[in-house]
Amino acid sequence: MKNTNYIFITGGVTSSLGKGIISSSLAKLLQARGFSVTIQKLDPYINIDPGTLNPYEHGECFVTDDGAETDLDLGHYERFTDVRTSQANNVTTGRIYQSVIDKERRGDYLGKTVQVIPHITDEIKRRIRLLGKKEYDFVITEIGGTVGDIESFPYIEAIRQLKWDLEGKIAVIHLTLVPYLAASKELKTKPTQNSVKMLLENGVQPDILVLRTEHSLTKEVREKVARFCNVTLSSVIESIDASTIYEVPLLMQREKLDEAVLQKFNIPVKAKPELKEWKSVVAKIKNAKCKLNIALVGKYVELPDAYKSINESLIHAGAGIDCKPKISLLQSENITDKNVADILKGFDGVLVAPGFGHRGIEGKISAIKYVRENNIPFLGICLGMQCAVIEFARNVLNLKDANSTEMHQNTPYPVIDLMDEQKTVINLGGTMRLGAYKCKLSKKSKLFSEYKSEEISERHRHRYEFNNKYLKYFENNGMKATGINPDSELVEIVELEEHKWFTGVQFHPEYKSTVLNPHPVFISFLKACKTKK
Ligand code: GLN
Repeated sequence: MKNTNYIFITGGVTSSLGKGIISSSLAKLLQARGFSVTIQKLDPYINIDPGTLNPYEHGECFVTDDGAETDLDLGHYERFTDVRTSQANNVTTGRIYQSVIDKERRGDYLGKTVQVIPHITDEIKRRIRLLGKKEYDFVITEIGGTVGDIESFPYIEAIRQLKWDLEGKIAVIHLTLVPYLAASKELKTKPTQNSVKMLLENGVQPDILVLRTEHSLTKEVREKVARFCNVTLSSVIESIDASTIYEVPLLMQREKLDEAVLQKFNIPVKAKPELKEWKSVVAKIKNAKCKLNIALVGKYVELPDAYKSINESLIHAGAGIDCKPKISLLQSENITDKNVADILKGFDGVLVAPGFGHRGIEGKISAIKYVRENNIPFLGICLGMQCAVIEFARNVLNLKDANSTEMHQNTPYPVIDLMDEQKTVINLGGTMRLGAYKCKLSKKSKLFSEYKSEEISERHRHRYEFNNKYLKYFENNGMKATGINPDSELVEIVELEEHKWFTGVQFHPEYKSTVLNPHPVFISFLKACKTKK
């Protein structure tokens, strides 16, 4: 078994400092030095997983191959490292308590009082070390929330204990904010000092401090932080705002974050890796000349995090074809047959987003009608694909009031219907069709030239499906099922033959796109947008 090293990333001062990006960037740098790395997120809320959370609360729900509904940071981990995550990579307080309570009911603790220390902290430690059993050189564990939150305490306590259990095999990186006061033109270190003090009160001395800042840190600021927070000067790392998140690994390399980590574990620091391929993608993301105007039609427009993976996938694919996509998030509730031409004017392609429930559906359908009739490249994902099927049924097949039974239970033409296996589902948490399923791709599909394979596997998160009773009728009129699940016959991809590029996918290609491996569906879509231009 490998002698795994454990790195913890905690956050101080405020939330949203980008612990996920720092974790992913560090993983990337360690990987570039030849180490195997995985990243885990521990979330201090009581939900078992974020699958039951509204995107307004928590941004996108990311899905792994093994069907875990997870925090969106796991998307960053995969996009940066190309290492697949799984159920074990995201654990919530809810899940920890559930395991402990199940054990209590089984009688595993018979005779004992079950307490936060040691029972909850033991379960946290077990979940952390579980990943170490998988032969990784480094397990990076990101602790959600901010130090000082009531909910975070058991996690910080578990780190304190692990420092003793795994002596020498642990490093704690604390990410904080150094605000800039414009009036006095000063960077202030007090919030960082206070947040480190809070960690110390809980018995944890951070080894490395990463300081988020809008302005370069002066030598004096670095020295002050080192002195007051009890770390070496080389352990004070600046994390300045970057124009793209994909530049952060390069900035962290410049700041020698990876070297500080290796030194902490007494691992010899060899020559700096080049990251050639990564740098070339970042250069394309920043400088590509060809601009593509992409409309993303959805209903969570106030919160771009709701469509995080789709945004990032478009960026990766854009770099793949040397283009810069400009993504405009359009509120589907505002779109009607009357105003759609105005709203979609000037876009090179339209993507209709996944989603749940009735709100905004008719606007999505109006947008799809417009792009179908005007030969504008269209990609529909999950609910977006289902809307394309409904639109075709209503306006081409003349099935008046065709709908999904999710939106209208008694529709006369249920072209999208609840999957059989879903009909007996009572609990809503974790019961969708989730994770990777096979799909047989037709050679006639426009996607085939990018996938270059008839056997593909993609991730899912849905309860409704194309109603196969109508399949022949659709196919005879030009909407073809070009991807089918070989076991269940479920329609995975629909395409319009007589259209420049019109594709609906029941699966979520966005969960598998990474920086170095942009996804075939997004590449194919953007290529079509580029030729339109
Ligand atoms: N609401 C639809 C379903 O459950 C689509 C889900 C989605 O877009 N992820 O089938």
